[in-house]
Amino acid sequence: MLSKVLIANRGEIALRVLRACKELDIKTVAVHSKVDADLKHVRLADESVCIGPNPSSESYLNIPAIISAMEVTGAVAVHPGYGFLAENANFAEQVERSGFIVIGPTPAVIRLMGDKVSAIAAMKAAGVPTVPGSDGTLSEDPAEIIAVARDVGYPVIIKAAAGGGGRGMRVVHAEPHLLAAVALTRSEAQAAFGDSRVYLEKFLETPRHVEIQVLADGQGNAIHLGDRDCSLQRRHQKVLEEAPAPGIPEAARRQVLEACVKACIDIGYRGAGTFEFLYENGAYYFIEMNTRIQVEHPVTEMITGVDLVREQLLIASGQPLGLRQEQVEFRGHAFECRINAEDPTSFLPSPGTVTAYHPPGGNGVRVDSHLYGGYRVPPNYDSLIAKIITHGRDRDSALARMRNALDELVVEGIRTNTDLHRELVRDGDFRRGGVSIHYLEKKLGL
Ligand code: ADP
Repeated sequence: MLSKVLIANRGEIALRVLRACKELDIKTVAVHSKVDADLKHVRLADESVCIGPNPSSESYLNIPAIISAMEVTGAVAVHPGYGFLAENANFAEQVERSGFIVIGPTPAVIRLMGDKVSAIAAMKAAGVPTVPGSDGTLSEDPAEIIAVARDVGYPVIIKAAAGGGGRGMRVVHAEPHLLAAVALTRSEAQAAFGDSRVYLEKFLETPRHVEIQVLADGQGNAIHLGDRDCSLQRRHQKVLEEAPAPGIPEAARRQVLEACVKACIDIGYRGAGTFEFLYENGAYYFIEMNTRIQVEHPVTEMITGVDLVREQLLIASGQPLGLRQEQVEFRGHAFECRINAEDPTSFLPSPGTVTAYHPPGGNGVRVDSHLYGGYRVPPNYDSLIAKIITHGRDRDSALARMRNALDELVVEGIRTNTDLHRELVRDGDFRRGGVSIHYLEKKLGL
């Protein structure tokens, strides 16, 4: 087992990782920026190191500072959480070169899946369903581009191979706009990512976002832990998630789950990962793989009883997967509401001091949060302050618990999006299940 793990993250996920380490008797090192010295996990860790000033570029993204902290403290492995360095192949490579373990897949696999063109090619080869589109990078030849788009059928979407975070995409509705859109996306991609390669896909009009959780040990064993629906999004940011994805025919689901497991083995995947799909009219279309733990992982934990972060730690210590597919049981339904420190109407961040904090509780309620009364939410980072997660024997009872949990939640001193969640869990269409990725923005009048 790993003797000491450095947690290269902050906020709720750093606390989540710390808790899993403690359960396994792994010593912990917290690293933090100046303003983050008061974070809950920093107080609870065995050791802590200030790795730089507040801007993430100088602290949580500062690779030499993180590796030095590992050397100084004798940590053997680093958990990158999500965001920051979690999908950075160069970071993983430098950590390995320094003789340490990265909790996650190999740098080569991070790189393969980080490039959308190579990721899609790998998925196609493994039999995972992808979006109809260009075969790899779009050619430079205008006649060929026009032919590909005609073949796929309008509307189409032009996407940067190196894109991410919802950037580097452009929808084209008709042929007269095609070539200009390709040229523009290319130059934007060059400017933003230093890589002008683009590809073309069919643009799906009203898909749902459905994703598959996997665990693999890099030793030839892989399992899935079912799916999640994360269609409620604003500006490509997930707001409310659930597991399992409601209303999907069992045969279609089983087929895609099995394809994802096979893909893990084919690419030599190691660790926890998520295959993201758009789902429309009963068909799945792979869009990308996230090679890390995700914010919404708790809903899967609630319905399977599997501790995904614990599994990540066991896999990183070199143990083969301790769970076989047939041992994974799916029970009931779970929801997660992301509580953000933000203005409810402008959605602008609302940092400041939390003067009162009363988290909800009770049967089937889980709160993943680093908040405490008197905590100051700094303006420098992501505005996620708490995840309220509920579980029930079926979708309705999990939702009823979420309504109560949200009503119990009190966060004073800063503004939050709690009222939006209170409204969403009472929304008729959402309660019926299966709304598309555009539902929330339409409801908000965006
Ligand atoms: P990123 O890595 O930037 O998040 P993704 O490929 O995951 O890029 O796409 C982000 C979002 O863009 C998707 O969740 C979806 O809302 C939209 N999108 C991407 N591809 C398509 C497509 N082919 N049709 C419709 N919407 C798409």
